Amino acid sequence: MTAFSLGALLYEGKAKRIYATDQDDLVAVEFKDDATAFNALKKAHLAGKGELNCRISALLFEHLIRCGIPTHYLGVVDATWMAVRPVRVIPVEVVVRNVAAGSLCKQLPIAAGTVLEPPLLDLYYKDDALGDPLLTEARLERLGLLTPEQRQRLGDLALQVNGALRSLFARVGLELVDFKIELGFSAEGAIVVADEISPDTCRLWDLQVNDPQDRILDKDRFRQDLGGVVEAYGEVFKRVQGVCPEAGVYR
Ligand code: UDP
Repeated sequence: MTAFSLGALLYEGKAKRIYATDQDDLVAVEFKDDATAFNALKKAHLAGKGELNCRISALLFEHLIRCGIPTHYLGVVDATWMAVRPVRVIPVEVVVRNVAAGSLCKQLPIAAGTVLEPPLLDLYYKDDALGDPLLTEARLERLGLLTPEQRQRLGDLALQVNGALRSLFARVGLELVDFKIELGFSAEGAIVVADEISPDTCRLWDLQVNDPQDRILDKDRFRQDLGGVVEAYGEVFKRVQGVCPEAGVYR
């Protein structure tokens, strides 16, 4: 590390560690090779996953920034480390769905693969102990986490992210089925996209492949024991890298 020195470990999640640095306006994110699913009931070590998620996230955050969408991203530091602005994370998992898959099809009579037009926005309360429950607008209001204006902004940003990512992925033959983002308040009080955007947090299907299992290039390969998880993430990285400028190194 050159531009800053690492401070205390602030937070360790399932796939990342967040460290303070000697700069108040900068925290460092380390992407781990650990994979978890089903609220951490299923766990594995997948060598190379951390680096791929760091690199993919960096390219996608830079793409969002070029599209005028504010994010916490500052730059990559090395293979598995990213520099970001500290944010106060809003404990809401924001999911946008373009095609029905996953929990949606378990909870509602909607067949997997159904195109959702307009895209569906689902908000979940981020709390592992509670199992990240689906929120209603009334429950969100009751929690008092966001003003009505901030709730509106959160939804608008999520749909903007969807538009920006969906067209980028389509250019490289990938269908953005759904994804989860987390947002936070910057020091200036703006809502910005935080956390990561990677095949751990997006469902991505290869548009050239018809087989419903073979086309999966995301964490569902791990959830469903399909094998080839890191290879699939590598394919996503290779394709996205092919159409994006190289990620900027934070100095
Ligand atoms: N997702 C995530 N973290 C979570 C839950 C979901 O990144 O804790 C992502 C998931 O990878 C998918 C999207 O959010 O791209 C929608 O997930 P879904 O609600 O269908 O839940 P799942 O079927 O993954 O349990």
